[in-house]
Amino acid sequence: MRLSRFFLPILKETPSEAEIVSHRLMLRAGMMRQEAAGIYAWLPLGFRVLKKIEQIVREEQDRAGAIELLMPTLQLADLWRESGRYDAYGPEMLRISDRHKRELLYGPTNEEMITEIFRSSVRSYKSLPLNLYHIQWKFRDEQRPRFGVMRGREFLMKDAYSFDVDEAAARLSYNKMFVAYLRTFARMGLKAIPMRAETGPIGGDLSHEFIVLAETGESGVFCDRGVLDLPVPDESVDYDGDLTPIVKQWTSAYAATEDVHDTARYEREVPAERRVETRGIEVGQIFYFGTKYSESMRAMVAGADGTERPIHGGSYGIGVSRLVGAIIEACHDDAGIVWPEAVAPYRVALLNLKQGASETDAACESLYRDLTAKGVEVLYDDTEQRPGAKFATADLIGIPWQLMVGPKGLAEGKVELKRRADGSREFLSPQDAVARFAP
Ligand code: ATP
Ligand code: MG
Repeated sequence: MRLSRFFLPILKETPSEAEIVSHRLMLRAGMMRQEAAGIYAWLPLGFRVLKKIEQIVREEQDRAGAIELLMPTLQLADLWRESGRYDAYGPEMLRISDRHKRELLYGPTNEEMITEIFRSSVRSYKSLPLNLYHIQWKFRDEQRPRFGVMRGREFLMKDAYSFDVDEAAARLSYNKMFVAYLRTFARMGLKAIPMRAETGPIGGDLSHEFIVLAETGESGVFCDRGVLDLPVPDESVDYDGDLTPIVKQWTSAYAATEDVHDTARYEREVPAERRVETRGIEVGQIFYFGTKYSESMRAMVAGADGTERPIHGGSYGIGVSRLVGAIIEACHDDAGIVWPEAVAPYRVALLNLKQGASETDAACESLYRDLTAKGVEVLYDDTEQRPGAKFATADLIGIPWQLMVGPKGLAEGKVELKRRADGSREFLSPQDAVARFAP
């Protein structure tokens, strides 16, 4: 993409309404724009990151055996009356009526709808286990939308729902999602710690929140330092094999959010020098809720002996849009964002340091052509800006590699490559630069 043709409305001033660094940087870097409280338009740069995160989430859900579908954002109120949650949910639910005065709502979550889909066609235990997920916008009329996309009212969530014949089978499904979550967040360059959590209005008795440690997080958290260095399973992990050792390893060290924190146990189990007491951002949560929805909504399957029984369910959320902010909280410096490569909007920023000079223009055009032809995502700064302004923009928007083309280097047949993460630089020939990214 040529920057001169792109839409990147960078802000010069630091927006005063933004309280935390990720919100400030997202606004300054032209990633998004607030359209109403807690409701954002995703501008091209932000949208590319959102899509990358979404794709990693999808790949890891698929790998763990979950199956993607897409449910609508609008749901019938009557469906929620079946589970009893229409009244229970309160003012966070956005209630709408259509021209026929039919009551609708903008879904804050989808347990009811997926249960309805399930019960309309699944009859036998032989169809289980089943895990269905979608990645869809949600609406929750949060009392205090704040911190930009971290606590929006409209936000993008991945939500998966598992169906099993009994509790033992449901725990296997739970473990698959547990491991998939470890992998998902690690692929994004994040350390997300599973912590014991309260089950909240969704109910049930087994739940973990996945928490990224950050001073600006909304939850207080307590954990054993040891949990920060545990290994994340690689892609060869066998989801049909026994995942209990992995889950055990990750859940045996103390890690809990303030809602369920047990001070006595914490002080007994964790030596003082290993205690981590900080704040964190919830990027995902998994629940086992048993027969909560299947009983009220009559989602039954026939077991091997022919008797009907309510299925055992779980739900598994990931805050896809919140992750954009959470990654920035974890990956930035004074100059701007430092994207992990896996979610970066572009991999290489190509900076023409003397726009309009025939040698630099020609070298940049040829680098741009060769790299893009090989599938490397390049943002080519071909604007008339001074070099200093180009450096500042590239640092702000956080592209992992900056390839700088100036007359001085070119005279010696070299371009300069800077790594955003640590500022390290090297000179290499344009051919070697292409080979570096597209071997
Ligand atoms: P919170 O405690 O932060 O309000 P929650 O526990 O109500 O979140 P869940 O129902 O567990 O949220 O939703 C799954 C995921 O969706 C959360 O882990 C979080 O990452 C994300 N999420 C929830 N609410 C919001 C929001 N208002 N804005 C952005 N992301 C959100
Ligand atoms: Mg939650």
